[in-house]
Amino acid sequence: MQEKIWLSSPHLGREEIEFVNSAFDSNWIAPLGPNVNGFESDISEYLDGGEVAALSSGTAALHLALIQLGVSHGDHVLCQSFTFAASANPIAYVGAHPVFVDSERDTWNMDPDTLEEAIETLRSEGIHPKAMIVVHLYGMPAKMHEIQAVANKYDIPIIEDAAEALGSTYENRPCARFGEFGVLSFNGNKIITTSGGGALVSQSKDAIEQTRFLSTQARDDAPHYEHSHIGYNYRMSNILAGIGRGQMKVLQLRVEARRSVFEKYKSYFQDWNNSGFHIEFQEELSNSYSNRWLTCILIDPEKNNGLTREIVRLRMQNANIECRPLWKPMHLQPVFAGARMFENGTSDDLFAKGLCLPSGSNLTDEQWTRIVGVLDELKNEFV
Ligand SMILES: *Cc1c(COP(=O)(O)O)cnc(C)c1O
Repeated sequence: MQEKIWLSSPHLGREEIEFVNSAFDSNWIAPLGPNVNGFESDISEYLDGGEVAALSSGTAALHLALIQLGVSHGDHVLCQSFTFAASANPIAYVGAHPVFVDSERDTWNMDPDTLEEAIETLRSEGIHPKAMIVVHLYGMPAKMHEIQAVANKYDIPIIEDAAEALGSTYENRPCARFGEFGVLSFNGNKIITTSGGGALVSQSKDAIEQTRFLSTQARDDAPHYEHSHIGYNYRMSNILAGIGRGQMKVLQLRVEARRSVFEKYKSYFQDWNNSGFHIEFQEELSNSYSNRWLTCILIDPEKNNGLTREIVRLRMQNANIECRPLWKPMHLQPVFAGARMFENGTSDDLFAKGLCLPSGSNLTDEQWTRIVGVLDELKNEFV
């Protein structure tokens, strides 16, 4: 069996180890220390402003965002259905009800019209949603202009799940800078990684100070251990922040590499489409720039001579190449079976037809040749 080609694998640079070593040398192993502060200011600089708290995960960041927006037991939170479960799980942590909203065709993210319809319906029942979680899926910026207009009209704060979108921009403004809170992830499969980690972003210095307080067990200012809030152990360690500092130095290179992987697939499949296939991509709007975290395609069997995404996925699997269906929408997940959903058919259709292709920034020419080899075979069989 040939070596496995992963969908998205960690890609470290040269400087991570130096920041980690500096933590060892200065004995700043725990809990906090200069790498944490440095990582936070590196992120803030990259985002062109905003306050940042480095945390143990993106999921923790979402949880602390909901808590700080006062979301609690019995409240309702609007959430994009087409996403990874980590976007929605923190709604359950605080005892609130998720209300799922379908996507639009262009960016595959939250549909502003369906969002408004959901809010109107809830309001007619006397329910005012406490927050909305909007996702930039696969790094593609959502239609923030339209979504913000709806959020402002009904006075509902936005939590921007930018876990997959560090390096993406919308109207020249970085993703994670639009919402009341922005969420980043540095999990192992993301565009940059600290092996595990996340961050919460806000325009409010107070909110980020509060995030740091809550994430370090909510200890009041006293010589003994005094607590007047429920606390969490959600802070990033100084060791992991050292990896993050090194990764920030190569972030722009990683974005460019992922974008060029996308361009390669795009021009490769152009050949298919010239031979009677109809392979579709997630396209950028004219005002947006995607980090192209993952390259995803849509294969409609009716337009591709019976070829399905599952045929492609299994053939790739046989060649030890990892491909995955797009995220299974939350309204189709057993764990959220009882939740409400405002549907327009888009996410069901994307899930049925969509496939994520190996998109790592460290994809080699040799790996590319193997991938194209499998695809060429399929092309010849189905043409
Ligand atoms: C990865 C991810 C998260 C969670 O981040 P973790 O750091 O893994 O907790 C949240 N939302 C989306 C869309 C993600 O892809």
